[in-house]
Amino acid sequence: MNERFLEKLRSTVEVEDVIVEKETISKLSKDYYWYSPVLDAELRDKEADYVVIPDTHEKVKNVLQLAVEEKVPVTLRGAGTGNYGQAIPMNGGLVVDLSKLNQVIKIADGFVTVQAGMRIRDLEKQLHVTDQELTIYPSTFVKATIGGFIAGGSGGIGSVTWGNLWDGNVLSAKVLTMNDTVTELVLEGEELLDYIHSYGTTGIITEVTIPIKQQTKWVQELIGFDHLHEALAFSKSIAEATRWKKRLVSVVEAPIPTFFRPLKKALQGYDGHAVLLEIAEENHYRLQEHALTFNGKSLYTVGAESYRKGIGISDFTWNHTTLWALKADKKWTYLQNFFSLDHVQKQIGLIKEQFGDEVLIHIEWLRDRGSLVPAGLPLVKYESKERLYEIIEFFNEIGASVNDPHTYLLGAGGWDLQLESIANKKKENDPYNLLNQEKMPTQDAIKQMVN
Ligand code: FAD
Repeated sequence: MNERFLEKLRSTVEVEDVIVEKETISKLSKDYYWYSPVLDAELRDKEADYVVIPDTHEKVKNVLQLAVEEKVPVTLRGAGTGNYGQAIPMNGGLVVDLSKLNQVIKIADGFVTVQAGMRIRDLEKQLHVTDQELTIYPSTFVKATIGGFIAGGSGGIGSVTWGNLWDGNVLSAKVLTMNDTVTELVLEGEELLDYIHSYGTTGIITEVTIPIKQQTKWVQELIGFDHLHEALAFSKSIAEATRWKKRLVSVVEAPIPTFFRPLKKALQGYDGHAVLLEIAEENHYRLQEHALTFNGKSLYTVGAESYRKGIGISDFTWNHTTLWALKADKKWTYLQNFFSLDHVQKQIGLIKEQFGDEVLIHIEWLRDRGSLVPAGLPLVKYESKERLYEIIEFFNEIGASVNDPHTYLLGAGGWDLQLESIANKKKENDPYNLLNQEKMPTQDAIKQMVN
């Protein structure tokens, strides 16, 4: 810790904006990296020297200007719910927590402009007042910030209809750079692709405009199946047909539903496979009938009037499924992969044959760049790093390509990012390489990944 820098920092903002308690600094230096036993070992000891929580745009800008002048590394933080250690500072320095930059700037018909640190649930609450809602959001929406989602996430609830972040779900953004004079950029269209899911390596998002839709009355439903192939076929029939208006279609293999502790009473010990859905109220009456044709039985329904009251179905989907598994047994970890739309049943059959209960299937149906994809978030009983990568290799060999969630390196996780362009943008916007150091792979590594 550099006392001179600390003094300058305190005089740039207000004294109470600067965190000095060691324990709080440690907490605000971490995210959910421990989901991965590999990252847990690599990142456990990393932490910032200073944390600042500015509550105005002006303060954020001044803090960044100071960091540039003093050449202090900067790592940005929303709510720290990322899974890949994206928000963890690798070389100490300054964590800038943006969670107090949380004002709605404008809600219009079809879009909202908001400061980056706003929590996603709070934002949707405000949208509901205007009978509108978000297109997509992560299952961590209670805590996660909109800026953190855009810079560190990919998709979530809503993605089965509206796609991922880069599918038109960000309309424009204001970004600060780390040039000698900290500069504000206003970005839209293709330019945004250098900032979405870039872990804050290319700039600091301070404000975003995102599309919103007319509010729908969503019913939440959990449907049980004796056979995984029937659960899959049913989920696919819902995911692919536009006549079903939906926000969420997830599939979990038995005995994953037994991990959902808060549903224990409602599910009465049910230990089979399940499909979890959010479906428009006007479609709901046909759903249970449709499920019966696949031998599915409705086990738990939350009516539209109870939406956002208490725990919801989405609290058991996306990476929350892994969270409940971890609560049941700390040995669970997970992978991310894309199954093939046409061969998903066969690929799953091969995985089950090879690994049995060492791998449990979890699928989130989503659209990526227009195509429907059964995206996997399978649970894996962790034995060792070697074994984990053997499993990954098998997935890749059968065409169920893995986005490795056990690395903090940008792009190594597999999303089809324009990595070379992002690396060039970083050089342009962050010439002293202060932003989120070591998350950007080396030039050689990028070349290998791209080829
Ligand atoms: P943080 O974790 O604080 O930051 C994420 C990254 O963005 C970091 O690299 C950080 O440095 C950078 N960053 C933060 N704010 C800014 C900013 N203003 N400008 C530039 N860079 C910034 N993700 C999904 O996409 N979909 C899911 O459904 C999903 N489910 C999850 C479930 C669980 C239980 C957990 C633990 C994680 C899940 N995630 C999911 C990952 C994560 O929760 C989301 O991506 C979330 O939106 C991150 O928001 P955050 O505010 O916590 O960001």
